[in-house]
Amino acid sequence: MSEADRKALLERSEGGVTEFERRQCEHCGGVHSRACYRVKRRVERTTPDGGRTVEVEYWDTWQQPYVIWPESLGVLAEEEVGGE
Ligand SMILES: [Zn+2]
Repeated sequence: MSEADRKALLERSEGGVTEFERRQCEHCGGVHSRACYRVKRRVERTTPDGGRTVEVEYWDTWQQPYVIWPESLGVLAEEEVGGE
């Protein structure tokens, strides 16, 4: 990841959300362009009252190339320092 890419991902929009946070995967916490390899099975069910539930099963270990982790951006470190 280049320095320019890193900066772009850390840029905050008007809502105060970084580009990284906007694109962050709900399943593994990283940013990637393909489907999440952590997800083993995803089942959507319709409930009798017309609602919807999503059941997700994860692999215990998984590997996915080209994932950007928060650690690699220094996001966690920055937030810990400025958090208190
Ligand atoms: Zn993911």
